[in-house]
Amino acid sequence: MKLTIVGCSGSFPGPDSPASCYLLEAEGFRLLLDFGNGSLGALQRHIGLYDVDAICLSHLHADHCLDLCSYHVVRTYAPCAPLPRVPVYAPDDAPRRLAAAYGMDDEPGLETAFDFTALAPGVFSVGPFEVTAALMNHPIETYGFRVSHGGRSVAYSGDTGECPELVKLAAGADILLCEASLLDRPGIPAGLHMTGRQAAEHAARAGAGTLVLTHLVPWNDKGEVLDDASRGGYEGRVELARSGAVYDLR
Ligand SMILES: [Zn+2]
Ligand SMILES: [Zn+2]
Repeated sequence: MKLTIVGCSGSFPGPDSPASCYLLEAEGFRLLLDFGNGSLGALQRHIGLYDVDAICLSHLHADHCLDLCSYHVVRTYAPCAPLPRVPVYAPDDAPRRLAAAYGMDDEPGLETAFDFTALAPGVFSVGPFEVTAALMNHPIETYGFRVSHGGRSVAYSGDTGECPELVKLAAGADILLCEASLLDRPGIPAGLHMTGRQAAEHAARAGAGTLVLTHLVPWNDKGEVLDDASRGGYEGRVELARSGAVYDLR
């Protein structure tokens, strides 16, 4: 399994990265976790425009899902279109919400390009991958994912505040892609986002192999996020996510 960080900018695109989007590849199958704004552009540095086989959307905040609207244009109007529908696993309301974002009626909405399945907590197969979805701690319905293949696993927090479900989801994972949107200062709001310290605490409890801090908000100092993580009691490797970084898990 290969993981490519396409976009890791938190809440909105930054100068060096689009918003959230992670590419997982195994056995020639290409799965996206999230499709945030700007990520369709950077994705084309890594795979062909038509090569997405499935998409999981953690939640329906714009920075995690909006480029599905742009990708509808590709699948529907490209010179080689129409292309086969891409399976999309997303919160229940995704077809209606994304059709509205595109400026389209609910019927047929984006369903000419995508085959939507409503997410629920549990385990399902996507191509060669086993995917586990678990509810996170964020103001709207939000899922974290664990993607496994060939005995290796990547866990992804989506957006979340402190969350025991994330510790379970990431237990023993090779990589935990964990959001670290906030700086560790007094008055951290509950049930919204985490700090680097909280991300490291979750990685330590989960016994995850490598912690990759992501959803990095452009107005924060990245060095400070990394400093915060050093106070989380996690003894494994800690890195800042970077658009274009590749992790080969074989
Ligand atoms: Zn977000
Ligand atoms: Zn969010």
